[in-house]
Amino acid sequence: MSFADQTSYLSQDISEVDPDVAGLLNAELERQSDTLEMIASENFTSLAVLQAVGSVLTNKYAEGLPHRRYYGGCEVVDKVEELAIGRAKSVFGCEHVNVQPHSGATANEAAYQAVLTPGDRVLAMALAHGGHLSHGLKVNFSGRLYEFHHYGVRREDCRIDIDQVAEMARAVRPKLIVAGASAYPRIIDFAAFRAIADEVGALFMVDMAHIAGLVAGGVHPTPVGIADIVTTTLHKSLGGPRSGMIMCNADLASAVDRAVFPGLQGGPLMHVIAGKAVSLGHAQTEEFRERQHQVVANTAALADGLIDGGVSLVTGGTDNHLVLVDLSRTDLTGADAEIRLDHAGITVNKNGIPFDERPPTVTSGLRIGTPALTTRGLKEAEMREIASVISTALRPAVSDAELAGLRERSQAISERFPLYPQLVSGSAIA
Ligand SMILES: *Cc1c(COP(=O)(O)O)cnc(C)c1O
Repeated sequence: MSFADQTSYLSQDISEVDPDVAGLLNAELERQSDTLEMIASENFTSLAVLQAVGSVLTNKYAEGLPHRRYYGGCEVVDKVEELAIGRAKSVFGCEHVNVQPHSGATANEAAYQAVLTPGDRVLAMALAHGGHLSHGLKVNFSGRLYEFHHYGVRREDCRIDIDQVAEMARAVRPKLIVAGASAYPRIIDFAAFRAIADEVGALFMVDMAHIAGLVAGGVHPTPVGIADIVTTTLHKSLGGPRSGMIMCNADLASAVDRAVFPGLQGGPLMHVIAGKAVSLGHAQTEEFRERQHQVVANTAALADGLIDGGVSLVTGGTDNHLVLVDLSRTDLTGADAEIRLDHAGITVNKNGIPFDERPPTVTSGLRIGTPALTTRGLKEAEMREIASVISTALRPAVSDAELAGLRERSQAISERFPLYPQLVSGSAIA
């Protein structure tokens, strides 16, 4: 290879090197811009986070922790990880944090490994009632390694049945109780879980993947200081890069750190940790806190609009960043409703509802969240317009022409709130 080849390998733009991938990056930027993103677990991260994640830190190996690495040349990335750690502590008020987990599921895997031995009993929320697959689904590592038992919600009001949690805890005698959900529209009472854990001598873990942004913004009670271990993602309501982290009290610090590395992972993704530092920096600002308040206000406005439009919601409403539409008394399935909203320019996901009689690939529900659109700048007025679009799209005999008209209404909204105006293409960083 000549010197010229070498320089072009290192410096040529992706649009020249790989038009296939570059074209897809542009197509995805366009899709994100032109549709209304309402998947409750998604968000738009800042340009600053995109820059950190797309940086030269991806080149660096840094197994170990700051100042205790198995590689040389870590003096810069040590500072990056220390910034992420310091900011996480200041945002959440935790004693200890490990910012290396690659994802939310990996954070949970490490948290379990820190406090459990294979075969130990764990009590967690059932997936079918809003839990997560890493909380003991049979085909997941969690369900294969540990003996999970599952509590759920009450049939009458679809709220967590804390009396059932207490009864099961007394019967099962778990080593660990887990609270936290992926599809639960109400506030979770962490103190009530703590009391049960104390009564039966269990450790208490909270997986706040979905609500971390709300917790950081002070619009959902914090589990930090109540739970022994708190795991989270950064890319959902918190709005950071796709990744996870684990917070705990000082007494579990070394068990958690050892579970992440060498227990589970090799080298940390230092570029993503830089992105975590940037997003946790955002989370320290007043602007961020205001946005989290807006997320809750927007979801409430969406819920009111949907109810006015004749749509049923699980629990009859919401306290947080999402609503769960209940289609069980209609002929429309969650799968069909997802496709209809797609045609209407709104991206959501079908979701099982508690006591769902349709299979998980079909479902009787839709999960709809507001964090992404709130980041984009939408407020209550737009939420009411979106609720009207959604309730029209879910009517029994809606025609293709009507759906096309609804898509124009959705597009009119998205055009008023430009996404990443600095990005001329999906790959180019301003
Ligand atoms: C999303 C989610 C996770 C998993 O996060 P990944 O980053 O997708 O692995 C774990 N727990 C809960 C409750 C979640 O909602």
